[in-house]
Amino acid sequence: MKNKLITLVVAALILAGCNTTQKPHENTQTQKTKYDVPAGEHMMQAVLWQELSAEHRALCYQAFNTAKLRLNIILSKKIHRAKPLAIVTDIDESILDNSPFNGKLIQENKEYTGKEWSEWVKLEKATAIPGAVEFLQYAKKRGVEVFYITNRSIKQQQETMENLRKLGFPYIDNKHFLMKENTSSKKSRREKVRETHDVVMLIGDNLADFNHLFDNQSTKNRNLIVDSLRNEFGSKYIMLPNPMYGDWETKGLYDGNYHWTEHQRDSIRHAKLISY
Ligand SMILES: [Mg+2]
Repeated sequence: MKNKLITLVVAALILAGCNTTQKPHENTQTQKTKYDVPAGEHMMQAVLWQELSAEHRALCYQAFNTAKLRLNIILSKKIHRAKPLAIVTDIDESILDNSPFNGKLIQENKEYTGKEWSEWVKLEKATAIPGAVEFLQYAKKRGVEVFYITNRSIKQQQETMENLRKLGFPYIDNKHFLMKENTSSKKSRREKVRETHDVVMLIGDNLADFNHLFDNQSTKNRNLIVDSLRNEFGSKYIMLPNPMYGDWETKGLYDGNYHWTEHQRDSIRHAKLISY
């Protein structure tokens, strides 16, 4: 009996010893440092670039200057069109700058949630992307209607319209706003505009703003489709830069899975980084 007891105590001590040798291993300095990085820290450079770099500003002007050149060419063609002309534009990061929202997430170490987003939208404090108001007003002056197709919720229509109205955007009325109701895909909303209008140009910061071919595609496919449609960019499709978020991240980088933990996303980013 006594021997049995000693054997059990020794076994328990060995097990305890194993545990104490494992614990420091799990908390090596490398891992601690890696996972102690605040959730939004990887966003810092992207948000700073959008907020402060003159290069971001220049790219926006480049996009809208190109759009104006293209529109002038389209309008100079003396061809009969059965329907009035229209431009379809996305809103967020295409004509409205929401970078302070992303800045706040970093500052408060929070992840994106619908609740945080709707609080920001309610403030109506998003500013205009450089060149956007001037270009869309120019389109109006030339008789081209502007339709806003956005994945802001239908519940956010009034504050969205008010934010745009204050900044001087044209066509601020219910007819010209197609908010998200059932689906994130903008295909059916583009088709609705095409029933009555000849859509000659689309403006967006996300490829799915242009064509349903880009809906829910992997990084590889997104790049292949862009290559196959290369002649549309700067022509029918006017692309704005957005380094902060988009399908390139959610559908591409994270494979359309919205349930990864922050640690898993960190691992995915490291695993997919291209180096040599
Ligand atoms: Mg957008």
